[in-house]
Amino acid sequence: MSRDEARPVETVVTPTRRLAHHLKARHDEACVARGLAVWPTPDILPWSAFIERLFQWDRQAGRTDLRWLDDRAARLSWERLVGRDPYGAAIISPQGLGRAAHRSWRLLHDYEIPFDALEGDESPEVAAFARWSAEYSRWLEAHHWLDSAQAPLRIHCASAGPRLRLVGFDALTPAQATLIQRLTSAGNEVVVEPAASPGVRQGWVAVRDRDAEIDLAARWAAHRLDGGSTARLAIVVPGLAQDRARVRRSLDRVLAPAATVCGGPAPESLAYELAAARPLGEQPVVASAREWLAAFCGEPDLAACSALLRNSFCAGAGAEAGSRARLDAWLRRHETQDYSLARLAARAARVECAELASLIKAALEYRENWPRRALPSAWSRAFFGLLWAVGWPGERLDSAQHQARQRWQALLGEFGAHDDVLGAVPAGEAFRHLRDLADATLFEPQEIRAPLLVIDPETSAGMHFDAVWVCGLDATQWPPAAAPDPFLPRAWQSRRNVPGATAEIVASAARRMLDRLCASAPEVVLSVPQFDGEAPLLPSALLADVAAAAVPDTWSQPSPAQAIFAGRLPLDVRTDGAMPALAVGDRTAGGARVLELQAACPFRASAELRLGARALQEPTIGLDAKARGTLVHEVLALLWTDLQDSVTLTALSLEARRERLLCAIATALRPLRAAASPVLSRLLDLEALWLESRGLELLDCDLARPAFVVDSIEAQHSVDIGGLHLDLRLDRVDRLADGTLAVIDYKTGADAEPKAWLDERPKLPQLPLYVEALGAARVCAVVFGRIRAGDTAYAGLASDDGRFPGCGAPPKAYDSWAHLLETWHRRLESLAREYLHGDARLAPDPAHACQYCPLPGLCRIGDTRRLALIEEGLDE
Ligand code: SF4
Repeated sequence: MSRDEARPVETVVTPTRRLAHHLKARHDEACVARGLAVWPTPDILPWSAFIERLFQWDRQAGRTDLRWLDDRAARLSWERLVGRDPYGAAIISPQGLGRAAHRSWRLLHDYEIPFDALEGDESPEVAAFARWSAEYSRWLEAHHWLDSAQAPLRIHCASAGPRLRLVGFDALTPAQATLIQRLTSAGNEVVVEPAASPGVRQGWVAVRDRDAEIDLAARWAAHRLDGGSTARLAIVVPGLAQDRARVRRSLDRVLAPAATVCGGPAPESLAYELAAARPLGEQPVVASAREWLAAFCGEPDLAACSALLRNSFCAGAGAEAGSRARLDAWLRRHETQDYSLARLAARAARVECAELASLIKAALEYRENWPRRALPSAWSRAFFGLLWAVGWPGERLDSAQHQARQRWQALLGEFGAHDDVLGAVPAGEAFRHLRDLADATLFEPQEIRAPLLVIDPETSAGMHFDAVWVCGLDATQWPPAAAPDPFLPRAWQSRRNVPGATAEIVASAARRMLDRLCASAPEVVLSVPQFDGEAPLLPSALLADVAAAAVPDTWSQPSPAQAIFAGRLPLDVRTDGAMPALAVGDRTAGGARVLELQAACPFRASAELRLGARALQEPTIGLDAKARGTLVHEVLALLWTDLQDSVTLTALSLEARRERLLCAIATALRPLRAAASPVLSRLLDLEALWLESRGLELLDCDLARPAFVVDSIEAQHSVDIGGLHLDLRLDRVDRLADGTLAVIDYKTGADAEPKAWLDERPKLPQLPLYVEALGAARVCAVVFGRIRAGDTAYAGLASDDGRFPGCGAPPKAYDSWAHLLETWHRRLESLAREYLHGDARLAPDPAHACQYCPLPGLCRIGDTRRLALIEEGLDE
């Protein structure tokens, strides 16, 4: 069979890849409906693939000796070219600028704007683009490349061959029209299917906001599909790719309500198909491959090693899941940022992660043979080899993961063809380019086909359905604002009808699109949201001649899936909020934190202090918040151990105070500096500067106080309250001139306010508890020593105004200082009894408790709240 005989008889060309898939699927369905067992595969392909095919035919026939430069390679060369230019070098993201310039290059050719037009324009953007275009053209010529933007002009038109049918094009670009003209003139049969005549706009319905709109559209679809209907429906959502998560949540509430409670099976594969491609790099299996490559192509830190331990797409990930998770938790607690793969492998071998240890070792040995610099084709092979060495992608991929893996492997192959574009580069740079390619490649797994397709207006071009709902027809979106290309002359954009160039062009494109959507089904519902948040919205001007319609009652009814979900057997709800009671007087671990956590959330107190639940630590560069707090306490303890009283402090000059403070800071930092890396040493220098400033500010506050003597520093005490025996450590206690005591607690957080002591369940009960430990009769002031940039001060309550600067008398709700202390005693006793009796209810303080709590994954408060809302029919 000759090459020409192998060619198809008719080729259908579509504007988008999705329409090509859609038409193939419809063809297959029609063949099945006709009872066929086998049938020829129709030749349907998107425009970009069609152009490349024509070029390849030219090459095979010897009509050209040029080489094909695919779009990714073209974009990469634009990024590098713009990055080298002085104009691009001053920009934060030259890659982003390069991508934008590449888009402009394509528009320049698609809309046949002559190069000369760039020269006459005075804008600096156009001038820069003219320079880049000239350089890029020279580069293409020097390497014998042809890119897809130039290809329609350079293809030999005799090579089309089969009859050509163009389907689903809202409008042809000038370059497309020229190529069609040339193909026709060369004797090829070309049919451009005309855009359907505008469908009738059957009225529009108003909905409250964008969420309510998706909700109503989903109910409409559910009722249309009820009773085994075979109808094909579509919901068209402008900006679907950016709004994917919100749209999916709204659809799930109506079409798969059980999934909103417990996840459930991938709901969109059963109830609907969401046609919104996402970057390939975001697919979990691809993200996993990137984690492995990132770790071996650079110097991994603790965070990178931790990610490898949680990576589930490698050999042994299932069998060693538990021991790898424990190792991860251990590393986070005990290791520093400077970590290495060799250390990780050695540690893994000691803690029942033998397979992980051996695969890291194997990959390290494999890496030893890597050159310092190599071409992308060599790196492509090396990256394949490394992923193979670590057993990527593991076992049991589902269908979507399998497709993502195939696309990633193809992308790795495509990257290997970029030798001429990238040249020889180190492994790290090669990986960064591969990563950027994965981020720029959109991927959409082919899901099980569902009767309801959710799609954006552009991608739905050429598709036909039994009924369509078009969302978002408000004046802000139809038409959208004009967005001319920054690198092309405005006059030429307007003359050539470049999309987005002017308000008129945008309006006319929007009208065409709406006409097409209205013709895409016998039944079309248009909807207009009335509010975007608080902002009112107006209907689009495109609906001026269409009447508003009422929403039929049936659309507001619960969907069949919701009705089934609502009719489920009631759950037998049992609240198990009790732990075994403690014995009265037993020593209780946790000190003052027991009552602090019990006040915030009884469940958290028991989970953290009795069951030992704690969050995984996040690897941080430098000191974490806890370590910084400890350092502040140590510095102030050392300082006041040295100074001892206000008389000594007052006698010191500013320089002498600074000297004593710096001495305390140096002593506190010494153990940290001993084991610090260069980076941490630099961070500790910054920490020392911060401590010096804050320390001097707090000393200024002490200078403004009446005379005092420091009575104790970091002293151990214990207290018996409500049957609990708690051990306490008091930051500092000052004895005032009349012999009474002021208790000081240092705080670096923003919540150190006296009002934190005044609730029925006090948020920060430490100081009231310290009063219990010292004896209420001896204490005349409780004080936060607040240490924060711009807010360093003493703040608290005292028996009377003026006794301690920064501390006021008790609020009016309390008759006296004694009344306040009695109230605190009663509240602390009540909290202590709760804990003693094992009260571990999930009852967080609604104002703040969950905000910084590390345990929502354990207590599942989110699920509990969502379930409660669903039970009440209030789930939003
Ligand atoms: S997340 Fe909220 S409810 Fe859950 S333990 Fe923490 S504070 Fe309690």
